Amino acid sequence: MKLSLILAKHVTVVVTRVLIKVNKLQLMGELYFFSGKLTAHLQRSYIDIIKGTVMSEETIFSKIIRQEIPTPLLYQDELVSAFRDISPRVDSHILIVPNKHIATINDVTSEDELTLGRMITVAKKLAKEDGIDESGYRLIINCNSDGGQEVYHIHMHLLGGQPLGTMLSV
Ligand code: AMP
Repeated sequence: MKLSLILAKHVTVVVTRVLIKVNKLQLMGELYFFSGKLTAHLQRSYIDIIKGTVMSEETIFSKIIRQEIPTPLLYQDELVSAFRDISPRVDSHILIVPNKHIATINDVTSEDELTLGRMITVAKKLAKEDGIDESGYRLIINCNSDGGQEVYHIHMHLLGGQPLGTMLSV
């Protein structure tokens, strides 16, 4: 009788210990699961922050627009500015840019429609002033890497002053 009591007590202790271990493991599992979720969430937030920083970061064009860099402006109003490309690919190479920083064409919204329209009317005016309106010219906006965009502040290239050949050379 005494032996069976001792045995029962022993079994109870062992079972209790096993149960405590199982509970601990379950708790650890839950903690692991939770920490995994938290890590994934933090990673996502971090990526969003990095993307936001990159996309909202000003480029050299903002400094030109504010004339913190003394690039001569060919035109400026409340919406857009224009100046000659620093490394002209053709005889007449002008950039028309919105004053507001917009990283790529993917980032424009309906609120920017007036600005985008203004970029074209200013291109037309500058083409006339540069004497290339009758001979002809090309307007280009590059978007992201496949589009050949180097400066992440949208800009329209006004190109002319010589025959421009076929539309693309890939
Ligand atoms: P994209 O490849 O469409 O992004 O064109 C960027 C253009 O900006 C290139 O044609 C560059 O030569 C021109 N560019 C870069 N820095 C300057 C600058 N400081 N002043 C004028 N044009 C610039």
